[in-house]
Amino acid sequence: MLCHDCPRMCGVDRKTQIGFCGEGDKIRVAKVIENFMWEEPLVSGNKGTLAIFFSGCSLRCEYCQNYQISHIGKGEVYSPKQFADFLKSFDYSKYDSIDFITPTHFSSCLMSALSIFKPPVTLVWNSSGYERAETLEKLLPFVDVFLFDLKYFSSELSGRLSKAADYFEVASKAVKFVAENKKEEVDEKTGVMQEGVIVRHLVLPGEIADSFKVLDFLAEEKNVIVSLMQQFTPIGKGEKERKLLPLEFKAVLAHAEKVGIKRGFYQEEGCADQTFIPKF
Ligand code: SF4
Repeated sequence: MLCHDCPRMCGVDRKTQIGFCGEGDKIRVAKVIENFMWEEPLVSGNKGTLAIFFSGCSLRCEYCQNYQISHIGKGEVYSPKQFADFLKSFDYSKYDSIDFITPTHFSSCLMSALSIFKPPVTLVWNSSGYERAETLEKLLPFVDVFLFDLKYFSSELSGRLSKAADYFEVASKAVKFVAENKKEEVDEKTGVMQEGVIVRHLVLPGEIADSFKVLDFLAEEKNVIVSLMQQFTPIGKGEKERKLLPLEFKAVLAHAEKVGIKRGFYQEEGCADQTFIPKF
């Protein structure tokens, strides 16, 4: 079948050809971290999440913090049936959720796997937000929490850094779609989200004017929890060569308050360090 899983719409046969995401027709897992505590508290809970990092990416930002797996690609490959068996092998009493990290380009295979076995904890779809509405509609029965990025407003910026000039147009529609379809529900005892939408925004050095516009949009989305991140770490390639300045992040936080964003998270200062990037 020709692949149209993501907005790149490559239309390639992934059995024999590789599209923009760099991955074939098997699910490739780069790393698994059990009891991972570095997501928002609504996802990590007290026990941590079962974090599954997939290899490849449909966005491939030039400053990617997980460059080793998103651009180079590595890991074990699984058919949908094998991946369902792999998911069955974990003891879910040990985690508060399961976190599919960068899963978009494996959407079809993952839905096949999840129709065989869906883990009995909150399933989190942790993606760039660059998602096709048609794919999201099919994902709704399988996914409990959509944890999206909303990276850019400017098409010039998204074109330059992620080769996706249509990023905001596509991702803003994706946010609206999931916000309409996943009403927030949080387990009172554990504090873990059972259903809902969290939208992350990583503030980029020198781009706070763009962050303001992203926040202006998010301020209108009342069914979304906003998570502001300042962990940008230069990876030694691409145009972004410095960390975010504390003053830049403060200005973004002040703008969030100004436009009325009251519910959400923000990262503490001091998190922009290589030690916060898992080793792959
Ligand atoms: S998932 Fe990969 S091959 Fe399929 S449309 Fe997206 S980038 Fe292209």
